[in-house]
Amino acid sequence: MDNKAIIILDMLNDFVTGDLKCDRALHIIPNLKRLLTAARKHNVPIIYSNDAHLLVDEEVVERWGKHAIKGTKGAEVIPELGPTAKDYVVEKRTYSGFHETGLDMLLRSLYHSEGVKTVVLTGLHTNICVRHTAADAFFRGYKIIVAEDGVEAFTQEDHEQGLKYLKNIYNAKIMAVDEIIRGFSRD
Ligand code: ZN
Repeated sequence: MDNKAIIILDMLNDFVTGDLKCDRALHIIPNLKRLLTAARKHNVPIIYSNDAHLLVDEEVVERWGKHAIKGTKGAEVIPELGPTAKDYVVEKRTYSGFHETGLDMLLRSLYHSEGVKTVVLTGLHTNICVRHTAADAFFRGYKIIVAEDGVEAFTQEDHEQGLKYLKNIYNAKIMAVDEIIRGFSRD
């Protein structure tokens, strides 16, 4: 058992169809849907790591402008992938799902406090939030799987460079969603 957890980053209205819209995100939705359904069936925990910004956040003021403001429609998970009562939602205020959030504590409490060993990273963007979350996961000793057809970025180049970096620097295993799903029944 490698005690996996799925982490789904920023599949929020603002990132898919709203203020920071990314059309390239659309094609990963069915793949993520399949992955989440299989994870729920195999009791693999699912954690939504969602931007929930305050207006004073550096990213909002200085870099991207208003997006995923806490409490707004734009900060909600897209309807196709909404969390169920069994899933976990952890809010974040910058790129990494770990930075100043309860994510690490949650991961350590799962599997009857044995803790998660491998994080499966999905969502947006390959070269930004996925990359920074991978860095923090790596520093904390988690193994990393990245769903190749379950992450996306603004451009193909960003996506490809992102994947390459994750593989070379954080030793991430880049796997297709269906390959990850097959792994659930072997665990
Ligand atoms: Zn943000």
